Parts: sequence; structure tokens; C-alpha cells
Amino acid sequence: MTTTPQPSPRAYRAQLLRFDAAGQALFDSDGLLVTQANAQGVQQVLDAGPYGAVVARHPGLPVQHWPGRIIAPGFIDMHVHYPQLDVMGSPADGLLPWLERYTFPAEAAFADAAHAAAVALFFFDELARNGVTTALAFATSHPASVDAFFGEAQRRGLRMMGGKVLQDRHSPDGVRDQTEQSLLDTEALIQRWHGRGRLGYAITPRFAPSCSDAQMWGAAELARRHPDSWIQSHVAENQDEVRWARALYPEARSYLDVYHRFGLLRERAVYAHCIHLDDLDRRLMHDTGAAAAVCPTSNLFLGSGFFDHGAAARSGMLHGLASDVGGGTSFSPFHTMLAAYYVGREGQSKPGLSLKPSALWWHHTGGAARALGLEGVIGTLQPGSEADFVLLNPQATPLLARKSAQANSLEELLFALIVLGDDRVVQQVVTA
Ligand SMILES: [Zn+2]
Repeated sequence: MTTTPQPSPRAYRAQLLRFDAAGQALFDSDGLLVTQANAQGVQQVLDAGPYGAVVARHPGLPVQHWPGRIIAPGFIDMHVHYPQLDVMGSPADGLLPWLERYTFPAEAAFADAAHAAAVALFFFDELARNGVTTALAFATSHPASVDAFFGEAQRRGLRMMGGKVLQDRHSPDGVRDQTEQSLLDTEALIQRWHGRGRLGYAITPRFAPSCSDAQMWGAAELARRHPDSWIQSHVAENQDEVRWARALYPEARSYLDVYHRFGLLRERAVYAHCIHLDDLDRRLMHDTGAAAAVCPTSNLFLGSGFFDHGAAARSGMLHGLASDVGGGTSFSPFHTMLAAYYVGREGQSKPGLSLKPSALWWHHTGGAARALGLEGVIGTLQPGSEADFVLLNPQATPLLARKSAQANSLEELLFALIVLGDDRVVQQVVTA
């Protein structure tokens, strides 16, 4: 008989930002986070709260002390294309020309496994530099791109979701796949990667115009057979794209309804953008449990439109924030949260509103986890959840140090970080 060594808890003392189950921010100006490995070796939050109270419950524990720093949940990026790293900042006349001119040629290179592995390495380094500990990512249509993504994520022990892009029509040579083979490849990749360590597979029809009916039905069938897998796609990003989808599916009530008719709206189904929706669409999102990945830097960059945060909140539909690199202009959650604030303020296409700083932060952490079906698993630093966290330095730049020192409330402190912060604020990332 062998005995397993008793896992010893770890303790971290700093300012501490957490969220409760309702999404309210909790802040301790002197806090303590205690973590302990579970049977699988994943560090989970054992206890968290004000230093005095928590340390009394764990006497004698060695404590790592970071004075002046903030421990906060790792950020969650709900929609990113890892192969589009080199597409960032490419000028084009809107979405469809941008796809043809830059994106598809860049993605075609991922047929080469060595290229895919090199980009995956850089991608995960970049996520870490920016404090992103979980992402739901598109690979390309090449299975090698998925193996590179998951291989590197597994090596780092990260909680990551991703999948092979399905696109068997209206796509150029080099990225277009074959219907039958694409579904066989997807099934094989699910078997290889889904549920391995902290990895999860996402069935990934690129968007309705790029997938034949047979491919869409096949994707939905796979989603039914693997109910805890994710689905990811795009919807209602841009008016030209909406018109195209409507012309291809005249029988559907709306672009979103196309996915519904194929059976692709369910919990853990994540649709990027969701800009040009109406209230019936939002109700459909809510009723099916599908979630929107809101991509403000991408939407502003490509001039796609403004996500209606007010209508989304009223409908109760799940939603959270995302970079959408390479359409997005930054991996930084601070830049994404600031862009979401701009989009909320915009008051010409919809009523303008001021999103609370703590609500912006929630939409990039605990709220994003809930939208992904990972509530209680990541994003809040609540006891029992996985201990993926970032260490933030509010003195990272002279201006931020000056501004954050003047903050009179948590909202003011968080807003200073959102407006003036970037990757320089992220001092360290600790993953479970
Ligand atoms: Zn996208």
C-alpha cells in the first residue's frame, strides 16, 4: 500500500479582489488567499478573505507577502483566434475584405504543424503576459493547429478550450475543408483532447455562410453526442454578413435563428459579436442558454457596430468579454474592458450607458466563466474554485501610481486600472 503525501496549502497575502456568486465584487485591502491541491493536483481555493480572519483559521502556514499588490481572478477571454496573431493590425475595408486579404492566407499556413506549434507557444506566452488564464479559442481548419494548441496548453496545465474550424464552402483553397472528413477529424480531436487535464473541446463552425447544411447538421449531431463540449461560432457581427446569411437562409427568422434551426444553440454554445440582434433573438439566447462573446476592440476596429449592453442585461442572456484577436487590437483585458466602456457609452445606435468598472471586470472573469458554463470552477476565487490568479501592480506606471493612490473607492481603483492599465500592470500569473 502506498500513501499519498498530504498536499500542503499555500498562502498569498496582498490586496484581494474576488467576486461572490451574484457577481458582486469583494475587496480586502489586506487579504489572504489560501490554496490547496486536489486529488488531481490542481490548486483550488481553500479559503480567502481579510488577512486577520483567514490567517487565524490556518495557523503556522508560510505566507508569500506582496505588499501594495492586488491578487485578482485570472482573466477569461471568451473568443480569440490564436492563428490570427500575425493578422492583428491589418488594414482593410471591413470584415469580409479583411478575411479574404489577410486572415485566410495567414490561416492556410497552419497546415504546417511546426508553424502551428511555434505560434501556439507565442500565443500562450502572450496570454500569460496579459493575465489571461483561460480562453475559448478558434484554431484553423487543419487538425494540426488544434494539436498544437492543446499540446502547449496541456504542457502549461491551463484550463483552455478550442477547436478545429469547420468551413466547407465559400472559403478559399488552403482553408476550406471536406464535409465528411471535417466531421471525422472533429470527432477524433474530441476523443483526443476533451476532458484531458483541464482542456475542453469546442465544436467550431466558422459561421453559417461558410458551412454547408450537411456540415452544420454534422456539427449539431456531434454537439448532441458530447453534451459537455463547447460550441463556438460567429453571429450578427456586420451588416453585410447579416444580409448574406439572410439571403442564404430565407426561411430563417433571423441570422441567429439559422443556428437554432440546426440545433446549435444550447448551454456552452458561444457566439461572438451578437451586435445586430433584436429582442426575440436575445430571448432565444436566454432561453437556450447560449452565450454572447462581446468583442469591443474588434467591433470598433472593423467598424462592425456597438453591442447593446443594456438590452443584453434586460434579456438576461449570458454574455462576457473577449479580445477577438486578430480582429481585436489587443490581448490586454484592460484594453478590452475600456473598449467595452466606450461601446456602452455610445448613444446613437442604442441608449448609451456607463458600465460600472466592477461589472466590466466581472464580465471578463466570473461572468465570463458563468457564460462558458464554468461557474464555480474559475473566475471568482471563491472557495472550491480553481486557483488561477493574477498579481497586479497598481504602481506599474507613474501615472497609474498617481491616479490609483487617489482612488476613494473600489470602483475608482478598478476604473483607474481599466483606463490606464495594460500588460505592464500584470506582475505575475499563477495558474492552478
Ligand atoms: Zn472571431
